[in-house]
Amino acid sequence: MALRFSNTLTHQTEEFVSGDNTVRMYTCGPTVYSYAHIGNFRSFTFYDILRRWLRLRGFKLDHVMNITDVDDKIIRNAVAEKKSLVDYTAIYEKAFLEDCAALRLERPERLVRATEHIPEMAAAIRKLADHSYTYRSDGSIYYSIAKFPEYGKLSHSDFSGMRSGARVDVDEYEKADARDFVLWKAPKDGEPFWDTDLGPGRPGWHIECSVMAIQYLGDTLDIHAGGIDLVFPHHENEIAQSEALTGKPFARFWMHAEFLLVEGQKMSKSLGNFFTLRDILAQGYQPETVRYLLASVPYRKALNFTFDGLKSAATSIERLRNYKLRLETARFLEQPAGAMLERTALAQKEFDESLDDDLNTAQALAAVFEYVRETNTLMDAGEFPAAAAQPALALLDRFDSLFDVLHPAAKGGALSDQEIEARIATRNQAKKSKDFAGADRIRQELLEQGVILEDTRDGVRWKRK
Ligand code: AMP
Ligand code: ZN
Repeated sequence: MALRFSNTLTHQTEEFVSGDNTVRMYTCGPTVYSYAHIGNFRSFTFYDILRRWLRLRGFKLDHVMNITDVDDKIIRNAVAEKKSLVDYTAIYEKAFLEDCAALRLERPERLVRATEHIPEMAAAIRKLADHSYTYRSDGSIYYSIAKFPEYGKLSHSDFSGMRSGARVDVDEYEKADARDFVLWKAPKDGEPFWDTDLGPGRPGWHIECSVMAIQYLGDTLDIHAGGIDLVFPHHENEIAQSEALTGKPFARFWMHAEFLLVEGQKMSKSLGNFFTLRDILAQGYQPETVRYLLASVPYRKALNFTFDGLKSAATSIERLRNYKLRLETARFLEQPAGAMLERTALAQKEFDESLDDDLNTAQALAAVFEYVRETNTLMDAGEFPAAAAQPALALLDRFDSLFDVLHPAAKGGALSDQEIEARIATRNQAKKSKDFAGADRIRQELLEQGVILEDTRDGVRWKRK
């Protein structure tokens, strides 16, 4: 079966192909007014899985992600702290990039800041004005959605009864009441602004994405993605702006990640029910555990965040790491491997087909864990053939080029007590089966991670260096 994605625009699951093999993809990035929470990172982790799978399927990527470094909240906070916009947002942009690195999120080919594209945005607004899509009110410029008859096509809403001329200054508003949205905002007293031929002011949120996406990726994107809350109004407004500017479809595929929930509610700053990555790491969890948890549920399913879920993610990673270590260190018998090689090829096929099916990560994981369970049983019985070890490791490699959780974090990523004990158990197993070279390798590996083993009459004791 071919690679296929669910397209919000058509409500269909469609085969994904790209003309020249390069995927032009735009994803909405963070607003850097504060630390991102792990709900935000669910969307960013989805972008990462999408990127990696496209590449594993042979595509090249040109992925642009914006950094919203000017908006109401940023201005309010920067003014309150008497900082310039740049000084204020630099703190949270840096924190965001650090968190992304900890979560092993690949960097998009281009990360672009809204404030570095103000002249381009002003020019786009001027063009929309020239084509009569806009009107002015109190120094601000609004987009008149009545001028764009297809308004509502992404969110599948019928806005034919909407009130003409009703407008809104803020960037988020209720769907039932679609309104003209702001393209250029006149400054209030004491607010920073840019001087352009539109008059003093700053861009609204929506225009930055249209302008930067078209500037770097062309009139029609292959994929535009974001969190589900962006469908309306943000992406609806992006379509209205972009298609009015170019006369062409703005994106072929629209993909949206469902929410991370806490007790059934969206994790969000405004509800106060959020954790930042830093909050979670401070409790002793590893960043790859958070990554695994966020990636393990298919992106179109809501994911309820619990600490139990985080603990079972840690256990799953541990099981896979131990399995990999076993493959690398145990001595397997020379015996016919044909059936096992077939079993391994089947596991990889199931893994690949699950991901081709709209990135069904849960099913892909199930294929890997079933394989691990079966082969562990064979290893226990001494029936796992030596020639199957490399192909099994190759399967884990493929798994890890997507999930990226098998290597412990290098810096500050000390092994947890459970991880150390699991390795000791594997080493004991190796000693029992007289695989002393394997046992020594584990001792050495632990030593390199700062853990010293002492063999005593009562078993193994360990301590950190
Ligand atoms: P923001 O920094 O508020 O502009 O949001 C950045 C991204 O996080 C957007 O794509 C949002 O859709 C997404 N997002 C916000 N809250 C959640 C959540 N609880 N679960 C998943 N994604 C979210
Ligand atoms: Zn956007």
